[in-house]
Amino acid sequence: MNAISKFWLKLRKKAGAPRLLCDTCKYDYGRVCLNPKRPNATVCDEYKRR
Ligand code: SF4
Repeated sequence: MNAISKFWLKLRKKAGAPRLLCDTCKYDYGRVCLNPKRPNATVCDEYKRR
């Protein structure tokens, strides 16, 4: 995760926005996850923390 992504996550957290699961999910790369909610899923049955 780059500095801009980290900054964006902090801002969202401060604003009380729901956490985006994809940002910390081990399937969030390439074509591994085909879920249409990616990269903004806030609820996901396949979520696995990196
Ligand atoms: S499995 Fe779910 S949380 Fe993980 S990248 Fe795909 S949509 Fe996002």
